[in-house]
Amino acid sequence: MATQIESVESIRLIIFIAVFAVMALWEFLAPRRPLSSSKAPRWGSNLGLVVLNNVMLRLIVPLGMVGVAYVAQASGWGLFNAVEAPYWLEVLFSVILLDLVIYLQHVTFHLVPLLWRFHLVHHADLDIDVTTGLRFHTIEILISLGIKAAAIVLLGVPPVAVVTFEVLLNSTAMFNHSNIQLPLGIDAVLRWLVVTPDMHRVHHSWHKRETNSNYGFNLPWWDRLFRTYRDQPQDGHLGMTIGLKQIRDEQRAERLHWMLALPFVSKSTNATERKED
Ligand SMILES: [Zn+2]
Repeated sequence: MATQIESVESIRLIIFIAVFAVMALWEFLAPRRPLSSSKAPRWGSNLGLVVLNNVMLRLIVPLGMVGVAYVAQASGWGLFNAVEAPYWLEVLFSVILLDLVIYLQHVTFHLVPLLWRFHLVHHADLDIDVTTGLRFHTIEILISLGIKAAAIVLLGVPPVAVVTFEVLLNSTAMFNHSNIQLPLGIDAVLRWLVVTPDMHRVHHSWHKRETNSNYGFNLPWWDRLFRTYRDQPQDGHLGMTIGLKQIRDEQRAERLHWMLALPFVSKSTNATERKED
């Protein structure tokens, strides 16, 4: 099992590097909006956080979520290990249901003040590009890990579905945060199938009602189903301000040590206060 997981991890890493490189090159050649702050320190901090999070994940769960799925399978735990269904259907439903779990988790991170403290590190980025899609506080990653593990065990998600979902989520997060120019006609069709950069950018607006919309990372259907969908930002994609109104200082928003400290020093924890705008 360990060898299989090692090779899966290598494939995941190759896909991650490839998608990152394509998005980074695309946003360099055809950017959607000019960036407001200098790229080097932002990228250094955002990518520094990615490395830190991954080292931590390796230490805590060396076999990752795929390992959890193998254990659930071997023990016969969860819904899909209890019912007889075609394998492809189990994989398909697992990927869709895991995406719903991630949508609900994202909404919860906005609603619960204690969780918002950690999630605001993602929203404090003063620009939005491919690296924003990877910028999550270590504690948020840990909480998310627990939620995903619980969902995998309860549903009895097959290991193949876990790998598929993790690769998809990782790739779409980099795609929908990227600062790429995508023809509007293509965006209009594509956003029925997958969350596009123009759709997700609304979620990074400094207007709170826009921040509290378009929670999807992968499938765009949950936002439409649960009425959290917002078509376009009120100030337009070029005129909108990215980030949070209370954190406009580059030193705080874009230095790794500040990002890690932000949840513990931020005053913005009140979900009710955040509804005003
Ligand atoms: Zn969010």
